[in-house]
Amino acid sequence: MSEFWSPSVRELTPYVPGEQPRERLIKLNTNENPYPPAPGVEAILREFPADHLRLYPDPESRALRQALADEYGVDVGQVFVGNGSDEVLALAFQAFFRHGLPLEMPAITYSFYPVYCRLYDIERRSHPLDDHWQVNLDAFSRDCSGVIFANPNAPTAHGHSREAISRLLQRVTNRVVLIDEAYADFGGESAVPLVAEHGNLLVTGTFSKSRSLAGIRLGYAIGSRELIEGLERVKDSFNSYPIDSLASAIGIAALEDREHFAACREKVITTRERTRQRLEALGFEVLPSQANFILVRHPAQEAAQLFVGLRERGILVRHFNTEVLSDFLRISIGTEDEMDSLVETLEVLCR
Ligand code: PMP
Repeated sequence: MSEFWSPSVRELTPYVPGEQPRERLIKLNTNENPYPPAPGVEAILREFPADHLRLYPDPESRALRQALADEYGVDVGQVFVGNGSDEVLALAFQAFFRHGLPLEMPAITYSFYPVYCRLYDIERRSHPLDDHWQVNLDAFSRDCSGVIFANPNAPTAHGHSREAISRLLQRVTNRVVLIDEAYADFGGESAVPLVAEHGNLLVTGTFSKSRSLAGIRLGYAIGSRELIEGLERVKDSFNSYPIDSLASAIGIAALEDREHFAACREKVITTRERTRQRLEALGFEVLPSQANFILVRHPAQEAAQLFVGLRERGILVRHFNTEVLSDFLRISIGTEDEMDSLVETLEVLCR
């Protein structure tokens, strides 16, 4: 603890991401994609002219934003890009959620949101999930500085329909509603089409999951021009060149290859459903998932012990040491072979 730190930094418990092990493990702990990025990405890495790196990148990241605008059927002025969606979220907290009222969110959701609340001195009002571990959209009110949740939610994996989101937006019209769609490509319904009617809706997305590009940091937001301008104001104040030239070229190459994208997504979804069936056969409860991970628990086995048992046998999953989630393991969907190993190992551990 240092006297030099701002009060909010003294209070801060930083977000701790899942372990990135050095040894070769079956890594099912941070929801990365098990398949490589689009082949066009390899070509960029081989052919990108080093001389381009001499110059600053386009401060407006126009080409990448245009590629995203084409993908989502919106105007380029409705797209914002940043270094991973974590950065985009941080800018959104600063731009939209400091009205002196609490920010509303589910009690169980992406654990970065409370960290940002601390960091930016924003009070938080958390609403419990419903009896099915789903985000309770009816709980959100107008009396707040904004609403934020992940859809599908993390780590519970359930996604609400666009219709349900639309009902929320008819009610909460006075503040920004931020929907984090980091996992929406794996079977969730994107809220982006609602942006046209709702100037207060901001949807964030990432290249880290469905585009297999967690190693470069690329995220984005889509919303009304008004909201995008708000983000640009904050961004320009501390990093006027958000995306480096190489990352932009890689992002565009990934967006261009629709076939590769669809094929990887289908494989992940098929493997997820197959894994679900096999784990249910072992007695696990598997929460419904529209994401590239599942949240599971066993009525007779301690999750913490299963975590250790898997780790000792070379398989890394996520165990959350919080009261509500301590019975569960969150398992990212890997390749078919990786999931076979997982199921076979759990079979042994649950005997
Ligand atoms: N939102 C959610 C719900 C996430 O789980 C993650 C990944 N940890 C992110 C955002 C951030 O993703 P990235 O910064 O890689 O885009």
